[in-house]
Amino acid sequence: MPELPEVETTRLGILPHVRNALIKEVIVRRRDLRQAVPESLAEIEGLRVIDVTRRAKYLILHLEENHTVLIHLGMSGSLRIVDPSVHYRTHDHIAFTLSTGKELRFHDPRRFGIVTHAVLRDPLTHPLFSSLGPEPLQPEFDAAYLKHALRSLQRPIKLAIMDNAIVVGVGNIYASESLLHAGIQPTTPSCKLSLPRLQRLVDAIKMVLEKSIAQGGTTLRDFLRENGEPGYFRQELLVYEREGQPCRICHTPIRKIILGQRSTYFCNKCQKR
Ligand SMILES: [Zn+2]
Repeated sequence: MPELPEVETTRLGILPHVRNALIKEVIVRRRDLRQAVPESLAEIEGLRVIDVTRRAKYLILHLEENHTVLIHLGMSGSLRIVDPSVHYRTHDHIAFTLSTGKELRFHDPRRFGIVTHAVLRDPLTHPLFSSLGPEPLQPEFDAAYLKHALRSLQRPIKLAIMDNAIVVGVGNIYASESLLHAGIQPTTPSCKLSLPRLQRLVDAIKMVLEKSIAQGGTTLRDFLRENGEPGYFRQELLVYEREGQPCRICHTPIRKIILGQRSTYFCNKCQKR
C-alpha cells in the first residue's frame, strides 16, 4: 500500500511535468473507484496546473480559477507520466493529457483510490480533510502536542500514532519502526508516556519518514518509465516483518503480536512499557 513517503515521492515525481501545463483533455476510462469520479472533472479541461501539494496521503492538484483535483492512491494506486502513444494498461482508469505533449495516468488495480474534483478557494477546507490531525513532518507535531492529544487515552500507543485524527500518515510499518527507535513497547497505554519519551517518539517518526522520502528520491526517474510501478520502496527495516530474527541492536529475537488487527513487531529488550 502506498504510504506517506510514497505519496510524497509521487508528488515530487509528477510536479515538474504538470506544473504550468494546461490540461487539454480528461479521459475517464472507468468511473467506479472508491468514490465515483465526478462528471465535473471535465471542467478542468483548458485550465493550467499551478501546483501540486499533499495533505496526509492525498495529492492536491491546484488549477486556475480555484479548481482542485484530489487524488488518493488507495491500496494499489499509482501515477505516472507517459507519452500518449504508450498503450493503456488494464487498470489505467484516468488520463490527463497535457499541453507538454505528455499524459498523466492514474492506475489502480484494486480501485480503492479516489480522484475527485472541487472548486475551493482553500482546498484544505474540503470535507475529506475535516477530521485529520497534523502532518508528522510539520513543526506543530511535537511532544507537547502529543502529550496533550494523548492525555486521557488508554489506547496502546501504536494504535494512537496510527490514528489519522492524532497524526496523519504513520502507517503500520512506520509505527512499528518508530517505536523501536524510541524504545517504547507498542502496547504501552498512550497516557502513561512522559514528555521526554514522547519527544523521542516524535523524533523517531520524523526521522523514519524523512529517511524513507529521501530513499524515494532515488526512484524519481521511474515516473517516466513506460512500464512498471513507480515510487514503491522500502528502507532497511529494524523490526517490521522480522519475527524470530535477531534484533539489529541487541540480537534478542523480534516478537510479533496482533494489535488492532494489524501485525505488530517489537524487541522485548530494546522497547519498554
Ligand atoms: Zn533489541
